[in-house]
Amino acid sequence: MSQRVAIIGAGPCGLAQLRAFQSAGAKGAEIPELVCFEKQQDWGGMWNYTWRTGLDENGEPVHGSMYRYLWSNGPKECLEFADYTFDEHFGRPIGSYPPREVLWDYIQGRVLKAGVRQYIRFNTAVRMVEFDPHSGQFDVTVHDHDGDRTYSERFDYVVVASGHFSTPNVPYFEGFESFGGRVLHAHDFRDALEFKDKDVLVVGSSYSAEDIGSQCYKYGARSITSCYRSAPMGYKWPQNWEEKPLLQRVQGDTAYFADGSHKHIDAIILCTGYKHHFSFLPESLRLKTGNRLWPLGLYQGIFWEDNPKLMYLGMQDQWYSFNMFDAQAWYARDVILGRIALPPKAERLADDQAWREREEQLQTAQEMFEFQGAYIQRLIDATDYPSFDIAAVNQTFLAWKHDKYEDIMGYRDKCYRSLMTGTPAVPHHTSWLQALDDSLRAYLAEQPSDLKAAG
Ligand code: FAD
Ligand code: NAP
Repeated sequence: MSQRVAIIGAGPCGLAQLRAFQSAGAKGAEIPELVCFEKQQDWGGMWNYTWRTGLDENGEPVHGSMYRYLWSNGPKECLEFADYTFDEHFGRPIGSYPPREVLWDYIQGRVLKAGVRQYIRFNTAVRMVEFDPHSGQFDVTVHDHDGDRTYSERFDYVVVASGHFSTPNVPYFEGFESFGGRVLHAHDFRDALEFKDKDVLVVGSSYSAEDIGSQCYKYGARSITSCYRSAPMGYKWPQNWEEKPLLQRVQGDTAYFADGSHKHIDAIILCTGYKHHFSFLPESLRLKTGNRLWPLGLYQGIFWEDNPKLMYLGMQDQWYSFNMFDAQAWYARDVILGRIALPPKAERLADDQAWREREEQLQTAQEMFEFQGAYIQRLIDATDYPSFDIAAVNQTFLAWKHDKYEDIMGYRDKCYRSLMTGTPAVPHHTSWLQALDDSLRAYLAEQPSDLKAAG
């Protein structure tokens, strides 16, 4: 009887897994029966924008953390699929930092071409995964919201591709309960226009703090204050943006900081990261980690050490994203197809530990993306995923970091060359700071005037 593989989530990771199997099938391999469970109505994961916050239309926790006007925060050349290029999808060069809807379109282009939508059961939330040691199989229990029924099915392998930027980490600061303005986490942030003419405080010093603060600046906040726990972001901020050490407490509409200063604040946005959260996994199968480059417990960053028939995709902190997910998915596929044999447990653990020790030595951003690049190289060397120039991607990351320190509000106007096709990106018709309409239609228009002409 054919083997069965359950894939949890149809975001970039789950879709990479489907595409990996489809590509093997297209080359003549016999592939297992695939079932991808997706709790949302559509695919694309985080890139499938929702205006909702709190609970979704099915009463499930809203997955999406993306917001309106979000543009890629790294050059698209660093995340390009090696088997489906931007050139192939758009048929002409575009800018290096497309908005969300443009990247969503690109993600969909590959899987529409591959014809894998048939494998996905939408509106179906995974509730529980249990391993039966006697049969060596998993029982996966799901709730089908369309039919309003709960059912279980058996699988030989389970691939967890449910993402890790959805369950917010929400710290408390003294005085929050009586704060005069709004307190929200980045997960619930949707539209910077809400904060026009307001004094906004963002807590945190990573990508969400930087980008949500920048959104608020771009869409007309009166002032932005960002505060850090470990280290300041250190960019050359615009004149109405101030960086401070960590918030200590709020009283009324005044925020007090660790350096003894205080400031009037209208709204507080907690850009304090996310938790790896797997409500559907029992203790024995559940990955527990912070957001880091080498979560411990996964051989090759994929296979659950105690039971490698359970796989995780995309659980690392991400410099690389889409093409790393592909590298993982192709490798997982080849283990399932029996093309790659896993070593004994002791060897797997030693290897996992060695990568962790390497990770703990990393100091600079450059060392970090080179580490992740080396990891991806190792994976793609073992499969037929098209090889690409990882050293050149690392160089692009380095240039990107430099651009940000030069001009944090202008770096998205820079252009890079594809490392897959060599095609140089072309400048977008409007600079990022001036481009208020982030729709696919506006982005792909040759000139803003074309939009007006088209109505
Ligand atoms: P997700 O995209 O989160 O998809 C997981 C899927 O699993 C979802 O569709 C979800 O509905 C489904 N799911 C979850 N639980 C269940 C369940 N119990 N049952 C069934 N289905 C379930 N990356 C970049 O490369 N560039 C960027 O510019 C960028 N911007 C980002 C901006 C924000 C605000 C955030 C939060 C992340 C950003 N990322 C960016 C990282 C982004 O998370 C990855 O690009 C990518 O979406 C990760 O893919 P994934 O498939 O692992 O997870
Ligand atoms: P993150 O990178 O995990 O960073 C979490 C931040 O929260 C860190 O600065 C951390 O500080 C801080 N923090 C955590 N707990 C805190 C506490 N109790 N008090 C104060 N600070 C605290 O999470 P993220 O910034 O949300 O980014 C998540 C992902 O989203 C990334 O992959 C990023 O690329 C993506 N993203 C992309 C865009 C885009 O433009 N496309 C926008 C937003 C996010 P320490 O450093 O002290 O730990």
